[in-house]
Amino acid sequence: MTIAGDRSREDRIAALGYDYARQPTRAHSACNLCGEERFVTVSHRDRYGYPARADGCLRCGLVFLNPVMQADAYTEFYGEVYRPLVSAYHGRLIDAETIQDEQREYATIRAALLAPHLAGRGAKTLLDVGGSTGVVAHHLMQRFELNATVIDPAPLEIEVARKLGLRTLTGFVEDCDPGERRYDLITLCQTVDHLLDVSLALRKIRALLSEGGLFFVDIVDFRAAYRRNGSVEEAIKIDHPFYLTEETAVAFLRRSGFDILAVDYAADHLHIGYVCAPAPDVHDALPARDDVSRQWREIRSIQNRLPDR
Ligand SMILES: [Zn+2]
Repeated sequence: MTIAGDRSREDRIAALGYDYARQPTRAHSACNLCGEERFVTVSHRDRYGYPARADGCLRCGLVFLNPVMQADAYTEFYGEVYRPLVSAYHGRLIDAETIQDEQREYATIRAALLAPHLAGRGAKTLLDVGGSTGVVAHHLMQRFELNATVIDPAPLEIEVARKLGLRTLTGFVEDCDPGERRYDLITLCQTVDHLLDVSLALRKIRALLSEGGLFFVDIVDFRAAYRRNGSVEEAIKIDHPFYLTEETAVAFLRRSGFDILAVDYAADHLHIGYVCAPAPDVHDALPARDDVSRQWREIRSIQNRLPDR
């Protein structure tokens, strides 16, 4: 949260000169998960101080930026603003090079989670969606002897991935034409919250997954984020168009045709990982209304406990 005496963070972010309010946006008229058109606005700014509004779906509880920047604006954002902004927020340099140690550790942990599920599947190909610099894909490629492809919208990061010897695609998976190509393992690591259309992306991924393939996705648990920060605003950031919880993640996966084989509460107590296999889709999977109501009560109580400016 922006606390008194924390001017330096504000100054660092201001120094980037990024004019969020002038970016082209579009409004969500319907919930990306359930199609409901009635929302509750839960936040009017994000953790960087940008005037980003977050709405929640009154039926399923999915939280999302509304309006949200258009794809071109996000492409520019990832190319020029994202890493400097995160660096300014944390007060240390975070770029395509410095994140690699963290990604290597992440890859080792996720490989251990996937190993027992991959055993005996004869997986040969990997698609890492939002694969950034390719460190995670490279690790999985070596560990499981896979042919690996990375798709990411950030040209600088995709360039690092290319240097690692990975096949690379620059862009969003939502725009990807599955064609005839299928992958035996698809990973969506620390990326689902960055997608512009989660339902579409998951449907594309499902179409790209081979029969008997495996899909791994992890979410930043929005509930964990606002509870640990004691603030909804601090859990909102313009780089995350969507904010999933256990309930909305499960509904998204079941609707998109995935069966959950294993769930992993990450050591950071913030991320939750799902190992999934293709299954018939459950079109009407939704969080229970009681869980949705609980979420609004919890958000409201946090807002009232910690009035924020
Ligand atoms: Zn909804």
